[in-house]
Amino acid sequence: MDFEFSEEQQAFAKEVEVFLDEHDDPHVFDVTRENMAQIVDTPRRRAFMALLGEQGWLGMTWPEEYGGGDGEGVYEYLLNEQLAGRGGPQIGKGVGIIGKTLIRHGNDHLKAEFLPKILRNEVEFAVGYSEPDAGSDAAAMKLKAVKDGDGWMLNGQKVWTTSAHFAEWYWLGARTDPDSKHQGITLFLVPLDHPGITIKEIWTMGDERTNEVFLDDVWVHDDYVVGDVNKGFQYISEALDLERFTMFTFSPVEQRFEILVEYVRTATRDGEPLRDDPVIRQRMARLATDLEVSRVLGLRVVHASMQGGTPPTTQASEYKLFTTELSKRLADASMDICGPGSQLRVRTKEAPLEGRSESTYRYTVIDTIGGGTSEVQKNIIARRELGLPKNF
Ligand SMILES: Cc1cc2nc3c(=O)[nH]c(=O)nc-3n(C[C@H](O)[C@H](O)[C@H](O)COP(=O)(O)OP(=O)(O)OC[C@H]3O[C@@H](n4cnc5c(N)ncnc54)[C@H](O)[C@@H]3O)c2cc1C
Repeated sequence: MDFEFSEEQQAFAKEVEVFLDEHDDPHVFDVTRENMAQIVDTPRRRAFMALLGEQGWLGMTWPEEYGGGDGEGVYEYLLNEQLAGRGGPQIGKGVGIIGKTLIRHGNDHLKAEFLPKILRNEVEFAVGYSEPDAGSDAAAMKLKAVKDGDGWMLNGQKVWTTSAHFAEWYWLGARTDPDSKHQGITLFLVPLDHPGITIKEIWTMGDERTNEVFLDDVWVHDDYVVGDVNKGFQYISEALDLERFTMFTFSPVEQRFEILVEYVRTATRDGEPLRDDPVIRQRMARLATDLEVSRVLGLRVVHASMQGGTPPTTQASEYKLFTTELSKRLADASMDICGPGSQLRVRTKEAPLEGRSESTYRYTVIDTIGGGTSEVQKNIIARRELGLPKNF
């Protein structure tokens, strides 16, 4: 079994590295935004993503008939991981989630309108599944869509919609059959500048904005229904499999580990080198081993995705569960090892790791919640992998 990348894959990774060095820009790349660095929220970040489009690097794995490169998923993985490792915007949402779902299930109108724009990075999306009474149990969503002429009238509320304040389109689940739960949800694309939409900010402990979104008589034409009416939950579940992998990348965890190793190698406490402390050495060795497990779990998802068919659900859940929990364990270790100075704010020059410990500690909490909590991932693994009964 070979866990290494082929020569061609390594050459591509090198090409990406050189490109990123040439386009290095602190307004685009910022590791201190941790996992939220992935969002494409400023004009500079959008312009950079458009450059990736010009390189032919957006949609590398899409079929050629939709303007893609028909390439293997491993190339997209290599690109996304390099972007993530530098705190750059990433290809997860448009290319990975919305684009891939439209290719599988979208009508011709949606494909023609959105796929070319995604490839040129001319459109940003927000994803609206969660509601005040529907989080882990997303199929409990209540936002109502009622048939109205040759379209649908939408009313209700979403919560935790990241990106709604700068995106143009809303990828939104709504209840179209009140008598059925999982079979009563439809997926829509809704313009976020619709006059019936109100967006209210919510600020997280990770210094990033997310939103409450209210829909009041928002009419959407039938053309903007994604796939079949009442099959939306199936598409949402597939899209979540993609999200759990593409939006929770491995390289930022590795990058944070590397700076901590460097600190342990060089720092002293009470005049003694940290590297000589057996407790610290053992903790670092354990983290190094966990990191390797995470890397291989990720490669397993890439491998399974390349076999075709539906996205690999349990592998994606196992990867997300392990990697995001590891990310938190690493944040804890960073606080413990760096001592009291680790509480100093990020970008404080005199703080250990220039304050990365504190920002990582705050941000990584979100990773085990967004895209489905750790408990939800465990439920999926228990049910799908082990055949144990469903608990909701
Ligand atoms: C920063 C941030 C950004 C987000 N961005 C988006 C976004 O863009 N779009 C979007 O749609 N959503 C988004 N979310 C929402 C996210 O997907 C939900 O928060 C998540 O699914 C959990 O739902 P909840 O918050 O309602 O918690 P709840 O479902 O109320 O869960 C509360 C607790 O109970 C546990 N729990 C619930 N059910 C079970 C069960 N059956 N078995 C065991 N334990 C259980 C959970 O694990 C959790 O610990 C975001 C969340 C955050 C924090």
